[in-house]
Amino acid sequence: MKRKIVFIKKYDYGRGVFDLGEYVISYASSCHLGCEYCYLKFAKTPKEPVIYENIEVLEKELTQLFLENKAQNFYFNLGETTDAFLSEKHIETIDKISEVISFLAEKYDKRIFLELRTKTDNILKFPSLNKRKNIFYIYAISLLPEEGITNFERNTASLEKRIESIKKAQKLSYFIGLRFEPIIVYPVLGITYEKVIKSLKGLIISYNKILEKISSILDFDLLHSISLGTLRLTKKQYKYLKEKKSKLAFFEMVLSPDKKYRYSRPIRVYIYQELIKSLKEIFGEKIVNKIYLATEFTYIWKACNLPLKSIVQLLG
Ligand code: SF4
Repeated sequence: MKRKIVFIKKYDYGRGVFDLGEYVISYASSCHLGCEYCYLKFAKTPKEPVIYENIEVLEKELTQLFLENKAQNFYFNLGETTDAFLSEKHIETIDKISEVISFLAEKYDKRIFLELRTKTDNILKFPSLNKRKNIFYIYAISLLPEEGITNFERNTASLEKRIESIKKAQKLSYFIGLRFEPIIVYPVLGITYEKVIKSLKGLIISYNKILEKISSILDFDLLHSISLGTLRLTKKQYKYLKEKKSKLAFFEMVLSPDKKYRYSRPIRVYIYQELIKSLKEIFGEKIVNKIYLATEFTYIWKACNLPLKSIVQLLG
């Protein structure tokens, strides 16, 4: 299929949200894994996954971007409009795209970060990508407690398999991006103070268990970044999920300035602060330089005592 609209877009963070400087390349659309919170179901995307073949158009857009933008580092997300490891064809296409990117990066003296975000363990079975000059490949694996996967990401890989996939990605010399997104608080039947606190403490304990497991297999030299981001929903999604009595919409959410529903500020700050504390305890103080908040407001970064930095600044 040919893509009729632009391939590359600056990520649309929304009003007031800190700009991480990421670009999205829409080389494919849609995903059959059907996570309950996925925005793609509500976006104007094809029902079945498609891959666009007119890469010559993407090449022109990249050339224009590199000519017009003086920055040296560019961060491209290849897992925003689909799952980057959804099929072997996805990986083959990414390989073709990275050949083009590498050539242009050499020509225009650019350094490129390619994020391949996934909730699968398909890296274990698909052939590896050719690693090309001027490109840092980031295997960005989404992580959440097994209970969350069973409830909201039914067709994806289990937590255990995702952790296994990190080992494989390291063997294949990918940089690793740990993506704790979305962090979901559930189920809370009634919003009494005690229930909120109990639920949040339980949540932190389950994330700490994940962090412990990862620390035993992670090659720190290959760690690119760690993102933290609590669940956010568009108005349409929130209304739909409320009506369906989804566990996703049990917990109180409030409308933010970017027109997305999120947990209230104190809840988000508590979750982030606790997870940052755990990350520091497990990986050491320096880990803070690798952590960023996904689509959060500047005041939340400040409340969490995190230095504001774009995603391209993370590798140094
Ligand atoms: S794996 Fe990603 S793209 Fe696919 S349904 Fe889940 S959230 Fe959406």
